[in-house]
Amino acid sequence: MENFTYYNPTKLIFGKGQLDALPKEVNKHGKKVLIVYGGGSIKRNGIYDNVLEKLAEIDAQVVELSGVEPNPRISTVRRGVEICKNEGVEFLLAIGGGSTIDCTKAIATGAKTDVDMWDIVTKKEKATDALPFGTVLTHAATGSEMNRGSVITNWDTNEKHGWGSPYTSPAFSILDPANTFSVPQDQTVYGVVDIMSHVLEHYFHLATNTPIQDRFCESILRTVIETAPKLLDDLENYEHRETVMLSGTLALNDMLSMGFRGDWATHNLEHAVSAVHDIPHGGGLAILFPNWMKHVLNEENAARFKQLAVRVFDVDASGKTDYEAGLEGINTLRQFWDRIEAPATLADYKIDESTIEQMADKTVIARPQFGNFKTLTKEDSIAIFKASL
Ligand code: NAP
Ligand code: FE
Repeated sequence: MENFTYYNPTKLIFGKGQLDALPKEVNKHGKKVLIVYGGGSIKRNGIYDNVLEKLAEIDAQVVELSGVEPNPRISTVRRGVEICKNEGVEFLLAIGGGSTIDCTKAIATGAKTDVDMWDIVTKKEKATDALPFGTVLTHAATGSEMNRGSVITNWDTNEKHGWGSPYTSPAFSILDPANTFSVPQDQTVYGVVDIMSHVLEHYFHLATNTPIQDRFCESILRTVIETAPKLLDDLENYEHRETVMLSGTLALNDMLSMGFRGDWATHNLEHAVSAVHDIPHGGGLAILFPNWMKHVLNEENAARFKQLAVRVFDVDASGKTDYEAGLEGINTLRQFWDRIEAPATLADYKIDESTIEQMADKTVIARPQFGNFKTLTKEDSIAIFKASL
């Protein structure tokens, strides 16, 4: 593996009733609090009322930004930045899933600069500071609750980009699995696919001697594969929600990538699809990941695919070449995602050949080549999108 420095400053507060910790944690940062949330699920399931009750214990002065979209938009970020500047906000609290948290990261950063946030998202400018913020997670999927990453979409230019900075780690994240009971069946599936995809992005790297990282990845994948079908049959099962929630955090808090860089081509491909079609992130990944795998699998890298097939999908590799065993593993992944009813083709979202060129252009907008395990170009994007139709 390569040398690395690991630093993750987010305080993780996990478990039943942990919202009780909120007043003390917020109070460390200030009383003027901007709460940021999405389309209203937190009002229907009672989390909104619970949070306001907790903030009242410290006499916090609360201002609100609601309506953060799934695939959060730069226009909403700009609205949030304006509120922070006009109201003198001292602390931000994201209440929701990855979209709300990502939007909050961008608002917190924009509040401390005169630079337009899109220039920071597109890396034309650097983030220099951010207001402190915390999260109350309501959906297990992105890992945004314990990483610096944020993904923002611009509908004027049809672009969706990931960015992050040293200032965009949450100060704390409160994860009560019961707060995910109301996540509907389809969103639960998207979350499971996103979690598995994060692990898979890590798994495909070029470093040697990573036995611990490999086993971490494999254990998370096996655990999610074992738990997800049981959870989908019983959406309010605390233990299954707990297992999936912790898996989601561990899948993308940089613990799995100590000493190497994962691939991340599939996330780039998915961002291109949802920048043009606004589909759920996990849905897009379910379609693209097996097709990315089939596209890059070759005789030279087949041993990695075989290891995944044998250790995670219980493929019997005896008498098979690495390539054959690897391919069987990919097919087993697809079958698992079919079993939990994750989307399998772009046609599931009514996406046809007509936008392939446009989506492929988006995959190379930041760089002409992408992917760390296997370098891809626009032509590869076209081939993967065609195989995904
Ligand atoms: P999300 O977009 O935050 O939420 C999806 C949907 O689930 C929303 O409609 C939301 O409704 C609903 N929801 C959330 N919690 C709920 C609950 N407890 N009960 C009922 N409904 C609930 O989903 P996400 O998958 O977490 O985030 C996706 C975004 O994150 C994408 O933009 C993706 O590109 C990005 N992403 C970020 C990272 C990262 O590291 N930062 C990694 C991967 C992906 P409401 O809006 O009404 O609350
Ligand atoms: Fe993701």
